[in-house]
Amino acid sequence: MTPHEYVLNSPDTFITDALRGFLAANPSIAWQPDPGFLHRRQAPETPRVGVISGGGSGHEPMHAGLIGDGMLDAACPGLVFTSPNALQVAGATRWADQGHGVLHIVKNYTGDVMNFRIARHLLRDEVATDHVLVDDDVATESESGPGRRGTGATIVVEKVCGAAAARGDDLAHIAEIGRRTAQNARSFAVAYRACTIPGAAGPTFDLDTDEMEFGVGIHGEAGEDRTTRVGASELVGRMLDRIVDSLALTSGERVLCLVNGLGSAHPLELSLAFGEVVSNLDARDVIVERSMVGTFVTALDMAGFSITLVRLDEETLELFDADTAAPAWPAHVGRGPARVSEVTFAEPRDAADDGPESPWLSAFIRRIRDAIDDLTALDQQAGDGDFGANMTAALDHFDLPVRGSDADVLRAISTSFLVRAGGTSGAVFGVLFRQLATAFSTSDEFSTALRDGTAAALAEIQELGGADVGDNTMVDALAPASNALDDGKSLSEVADDAEAGAESTRHTTASKGRASYVGENARGVVDPGALVTGWLYRAAAERASVE
Ligand code: ADP
Ligand code: MG
Repeated sequence: MTPHEYVLNSPDTFITDALRGFLAANPSIAWQPDPGFLHRRQAPETPRVGVISGGGSGHEPMHAGLIGDGMLDAACPGLVFTSPNALQVAGATRWADQGHGVLHIVKNYTGDVMNFRIARHLLRDEVATDHVLVDDDVATESESGPGRRGTGATIVVEKVCGAAAARGDDLAHIAEIGRRTAQNARSFAVAYRACTIPGAAGPTFDLDTDEMEFGVGIHGEAGEDRTTRVGASELVGRMLDRIVDSLALTSGERVLCLVNGLGSAHPLELSLAFGEVVSNLDARDVIVERSMVGTFVTALDMAGFSITLVRLDEETLELFDADTAAPAWPAHVGRGPARVSEVTFAEPRDAADDGPESPWLSAFIRRIRDAIDDLTALDQQAGDGDFGANMTAALDHFDLPVRGSDADVLRAISTSFLVRAGGTSGAVFGVLFRQLATAFSTSDEFSTALRDGTAAALAEIQELGGADVGDNTMVDALAPASNALDDGKSLSEVADDAEAGAESTRHTTASKGRASYVGENARGVVDPGALVTGWLYRAAAERASVE
């Protein structure tokens, strides 16, 4: 039984089904079934040198997504992690030739190297060809053996050569630029989880949760070293040690930096890694002149990332910056020098820290703070479990007892909910306390202020979230409180009505808010927002006794 790691119909049709969708989404690219290659639908208007590449599938968006004016004219996809055959390469070469010859960009793997070479041999009397071998992976650098593998730098070589072809350079010069770029490029990759071949029983190798594969390849090959995971800063430092050393980068040099996801890395992880790269290179006095952060060269669904540095000169920089129509080339490339600075969120200034104590609001805050775990449990049963955390974020930083006029303290609580707490409750209670603050600053009489503020809050919250009574939200407590205040009931009757309203949520299922997604599970559970709303009116009612 195939584990369903992938969206697929069948492992056998994974690549063809994916190509079908890719072509549907990219009408500028066409498919030649015999012998099997992708090409730009429109050949260049002015005849020029063709640039093609290819390789095993599983590295998308490379190469298919890099077909377009200013990059590749054609690309040959092999099966998963299997080089394309020589006939595919020959077919693509013939298609891309406009009488000026064709350049092959080849990643350094034995199968790829052989098949591209056979294709050039087959066409030796027909098409002028040359090739650039990309061999950037420092993890396989050694005196003997097949040498460095071709990985992330491939897309940079494709970009630079494609731009040179588009500006009309001849074959020899484009090949020369490509080789220069490849020679000045190095990469290093790490993985936290290996990739799974569609249809295989599991990942190509196993890693424990505290392990990482250091120097991993892009075909699910294990790395040079399996080690304990370290923090991103140290990890990036180790990766860069290898790259900088192999490139013999020296102080003051300018590089292009590509931080590339291997398939399952989240954009946040890649941004984080890139920040570490820039700080680390800054300490080495290496200048990051161009920044690319994203998922370009993958190893199926591998979790991990690679770093590629390319030493820049004026010509490669200009070609790198040239426009391209290739769909997977990013519309935005960071133009340097890249710099990092500390990022913090400013502390909100919400404290009302002078004036008389406010015992009733202190009691309210204390009651919530003492019940965080219970509130969390309620939201776990009826919602997503963050209610307690949102209350903590809003209320934990107040020094008790809180000080200030009622209006000032209510305003401080409102700001804190709006700024510090997330979720629906941050917004809803932010509004409630802001309306109360406004009413308390206009009226000196406690129950009048409470009545007016409550009515205004109810109207705004209903307008904001569309909840009616019975929808299982804090409105179920707020509306009865508002009615009771309008009817001139005593504050203790107001609190009774608010609490009864909160209790009524036990018997309904939510139709608004996050709790609505859990449906019947919410039955029998009091809505935490309604519960704490009841507590607010109880604190108001008991204000005389605590004051
Ligand atoms: P999230 O819903 O984002 O997880 P919280 O868990 O912090 O936010 O807050 C949930 C509370 O928000 C609920 O207990 C409910 O009282 C209140 N709430 C949810 N939706 C609404 C709404 N449409 N109007 C008023 N209050 C709502
Ligand atoms: Mg919640």
